[in-house]
Amino acid sequence: MESLGHHCGVAGVRAPEPRNVPETLFYMLFSLQHRGQESCGVSWEEGGAWNGRKDLGMVAPVLGSLLGESHPSRLGIGHVRYSTAGGGGVQNAQPLVIECNKGRVALAHNGNISNGALLRRRLTGEGSIFQGSADSELILHLISRSRQEGREGFLREALNTLEGAYSLAMMHEDALVAIRDPSGFRPLYVGKKGGATYVASETCALHAVGPMPYRELRPGEVLVADSEGERSFFLEPRLPPRRCIFELIYFARPDSEVFGQSVHAARTRFGEALADQDSGRLAADVVVPVPDSGNIAAIGYARRAGLPFDFGLARSHYAGRSFILPTKGQRELAARLKLHAVPEVVAGKRVVMIDDSLVRGTTSRIIVNLLREAGAKEVHLRLAAPELKWPCYYGIDIPDRDQLISNRLDPEGIAREVGADSARFLPQDRLLAALGDRDGYCCACFDGRHPFPPAAGGKEGA
Ligand code: SF4
Repeated sequence: MESLGHHCGVAGVRAPEPRNVPETLFYMLFSLQHRGQESCGVSWEEGGAWNGRKDLGMVAPVLGSLLGESHPSRLGIGHVRYSTAGGGGVQNAQPLVIECNKGRVALAHNGNISNGALLRRRLTGEGSIFQGSADSELILHLISRSRQEGREGFLREALNTLEGAYSLAMMHEDALVAIRDPSGFRPLYVGKKGGATYVASETCALHAVGPMPYRELRPGEVLVADSEGERSFFLEPRLPPRRCIFELIYFARPDSEVFGQSVHAARTRFGEALADQDSGRLAADVVVPVPDSGNIAAIGYARRAGLPFDFGLARSHYAGRSFILPTKGQRELAARLKLHAVPEVVAGKRVVMIDDSLVRGTTSRIIVNLLREAGAKEVHLRLAAPELKWPCYYGIDIPDRDQLISNRLDPEGIAREVGADSARFLPQDRLLAALGDRDGYCCACFDGRHPFPPAAGGKEGA
């Protein structure tokens, strides 16, 4: 698919005795790189002092030097960040670290506070000073301003003010605190190994440490791990859970589990559901994924339809990201450098081309054209998600409504615009049925039913 930005991934470690926590965080963040490539950072305790390293850039160049160093530590957190245009800058790189009336606090945030703009205006009006534009800083202000004594009290008071999505890894004094918002928009997992507690946005980051038993934090759960062990308390829910279905469609790594589901298995079922929809309505010769986003749904489609699956599109892993190039011509050239059609697979064939979802449609038009140039007789575009029509206020950077192709055209019009013989989406009811659990998911970018309305200007996040 065309790139949609994701706002971040978090990781944390609390060990009973000193070990190289920053090194472990490097491996965990490396596994979460797909959740944010703009900046990254770690904070850790060492000999009673707090240290940190963060900068703009990917995990390997920014944090790779940690691998050759020794940092005996019992506590640390880390973050990878994606930012919208204007929201980047090293001042927004995380973890954020403060010393306040509640002690030392470090914060790593995944999500977006949908009433963040409103809260920021209120706090600024009351004299608060913000260093960056990310709404994660709000959480630190709210913690500092709470009149409640004790960790549970001030966290409850601060977090109850927030609407929207937040999965947090925090250091508070000698404790690791992991928090999942009461709607459970973003995933957050906790695992145990060798007496240490590990938290991460996705299980792939726990696997990077090694095999370990793990579980998902429940919506609203606040897990504290310190020298006395682990315990949890729960924030009051305002709404039933609203897990972001886009995590399963596109964002999470396929080898991860999120929301108690294998991402790979979920995407396979989405592909099967697409095939069921076409059953008896489409004659085709080969199923070709748009790599890598369409790979797994295409496997499910091909298996269910009884058609051969093949890589009719090859992807160069050395081409840069096309969406940041300034002109349409440059973006098209970049897409052509990134993807190549394989004539041996598609020439003379009726091709079912599978992708996970459709944003602007520009990349799909280029890819359909590549398949035709390579000799494809027919190209049928299939999307393993419903039509994307609405913005997200909970941590995913979706373009403005007028840029989303599904707001301009119906599937027949989309097929014409991208040059395909047909285009079909997976309807929302079939998507949810494929998960076997219709309740508890946010589908607002498809159906416009946003669980929390946005405060004006409240789209920037962490
Ligand atoms: S609006 Fe879409 S992307 Fe945003 S949380 Fe809901 S399902 Fe996820």
